[in-house]
Formats: sequence, C-alpha cells, structure tokens
Amino acid sequence: MDYPARRRQSIVDTLGGDGPDALLVRSATNVTYLTGFSGDSTSLLLARDRALIVSDSRYTEQIAEECPGLDAAIRPPAQAPLGFLAATIRAFGVRSLGIESDHVTVTEYEALRHELPAVEWRLECNRVESLRAVKDDGEIAAIREAVAIAERAFTAFRALLCPDDREKELHDEMESLVRRAGGKCSSFPPIVAVGARAALPHAPPSDKSIGEGDHVLIDWGASGRFYKSDLTRVLAIRNISPKLQEVYGVVLRAQAAALRALRPGAVAKDVDAEARAVIARAGFGDFFGHGLGHGIGLEVHEAPSLRATSEAVLQPGNVVTVEPGIYLPGWGGVRIEDDVLITPDGYEVLTSAPKELASMVVLAE
Ligand code: ZN
Ligand code: ZN
Repeated sequence: MDYPARRRQSIVDTLGGDGPDALLVRSATNVTYLTGFSGDSTSLLLARDRALIVSDSRYTEQIAEECPGLDAAIRPPAQAPLGFLAATIRAFGVRSLGIESDHVTVTEYEALRHELPAVEWRLECNRVESLRAVKDDGEIAAIREAVAIAERAFTAFRALLCPDDREKELHDEMESLVRRAGGKCSSFPPIVAVGARAALPHAPPSDKSIGEGDHVLIDWGASGRFYKSDLTRVLAIRNISPKLQEVYGVVLRAQAAALRALRPGAVAKDVDAEARAVIARAGFGDFFGHGLGHGIGLEVHEAPSLRATSEAVLQPGNVVTVEPGIYLPGWGGVRIEDDVLITPDGYEVLTSAPKELASMVVLAE
C-alpha cells in the first residue's frame, strides 16, 4: 500500500471549490506524512494533478530512496532557498495557493508574496493536521510498534532500579533503554520524578534518589521510525503507603471512567469531564490541572486534544492518550497514561504495561 500517495489524494480531494487550487506544505512533519521523506528543510507543492517535492542536494539520493515516483525540484547551491522556492512555485503555475500559517514565518510569507504578486495566497491551518488525526492502518501498526518498544524499555527499567539511582541517571537510562529496545530515540525527554517531585507534572530530572521517596512517576515514550508512543506509570517504592493507595485508586478510577466514554461521536470535552468528575468527587478537583489527553502520531502532541475546552468529535482512527493525574504539593503526584485507539464501536487500549497498584511495587525489602 502506498500510504503517502493515498494521503496526498485525500488532501487533493479537499482542494478547489472555495479553497485554493494547490497547497504549499512547509511543515516537515506534514511533508513526511504526505511523502514518506524523513529529512527536513523540504517543502511539498500539491495540486490536483501533480505533486512536487522541493529540496536541496543534501537530499537528492534520500528523496529518490524514500519517495520513489515523486517528482523533485532540487535547489542548485548558487540559489537562495526562498528564491528557489518562489521560482519553483512560479513554474508550477497555480492561480491560488494555500500556505500553512502555522508553519511559515512572516518573513517567508512576505518574501513569497513579494516574489509572486500574481498568486492568490490563502493562509490556512489544520488541513493536513486534521487528516493526520485519523490514522490509517499503516500508522496504527507503527504506533503499536512504538508502544511495544516503550513497554520493552520499561520492563528493563523496572528490573534495573536500585535505591541510590538518581532521577537524572534514571532519565538517561530510560533514554538508552528505549534505543536498545528498538526505538530511534525517546519521543520526548523522559520524566522521572521521585516523591514530592512528582507533584510537578513535567518535573525536570534532579539529583534526588529513588530510595528517598515512597513513589516515583515515570512518563516516557518511544519514537519508532516515524511514529511515537507516550505512557506514564507510577511505581510504589518498598511498599504502598496509605496516601498512595488513596490517590492512585482515584486516578485509576478516573481513567477507567474516561475510557468507558471513548467511542466515535463522543465529544472530547465530555470525555475529559468524566475523568474530572471522578477526581472532583474524591475531593481532589483542584489538583488535576491539565487536560485529559492528546492525540499522538508523528508528533507526541497532535489532534485531537482531550481537554475541557475541546469540541473535537472523536472518530475511528483517532489515537489519543488518556492521562488523568492528581498532584499534591509537598507529597507528590500520580498520573496514569495509556495510548488508545478509537475503533468503529468503541476503543482499544494499545498499551498493556500493568497498572494495578499491587503490581507496581519496586525495591521491596
Ligand atoms: Zn506522557
Ligand atoms: Zn501525554
């Protein structure tokens, strides 16, 4: 299956009518999505009857390898990037051209308008991103692989823990384990937060050692060749304290409530509200300050967003994280994060790392 060609066709089907005749794709991630090209500094011109990748000679071979059959315009060394792009657009010959306002600088936009006054420019956003929110079979397989890599790394991580390990060492270890488990790299810098540090939802790693806390929060993920995973687990250190038992139980119930609400047609903010209600009823409503989750795919945060203000309507093929949390200053925090596919009749949790608290105890004497 030539997935990039099929995705380009889906985008082309949205062109014309009230919209532009053609699209200039500047986002490196969107170029990857529509072509399979893994490099950067490269644009894609897309019209009803043709597609043209615009790059430079560093990538001539790579484009031939990764995007067979796709026409390429390669910039000669003597020409400036924007000048070459403008000349290529002129030769491409379109009346109106959509440009991704989230991915072009004001300087670039002004220069292109100056060079090409006859083109009718249409600033637009989310045309490619909204297609990316609905994963095709190739993408779902790639996300499953990124989840499997992350989970292999976590199993190894748990087995290696020693009381003297510091957050920073564990952060570096996780990065390395993800790579050894088959990942290109971590999908973001792992979070390893011991005890009170876990009250910071995105705690940077410190010198605190794991033996100093009664729990440790680990938020990590893997990048496969292109696609990413994103998980969070909390481990109990030595034993399960009554406070951890209480907070963990509420977060796990909140996550279960949100999962039950996931189905095609569900509105993102309503799913968020399900988890939030469980946490509020338990008296922790003031301590869950972030959204319930986010889409994952080529990027670790993408559409659809599951937050209190999101009107996004879920559809089969969305892949989202579900990650409620409770953060108590001075004590610590619990977040449980899984990656979930919306299916035609509900959902499928793609992650399988254990999360029942009884199975989360490490370093027991
Ligand atoms: Zn995460
Ligand atoms: Zn996340």
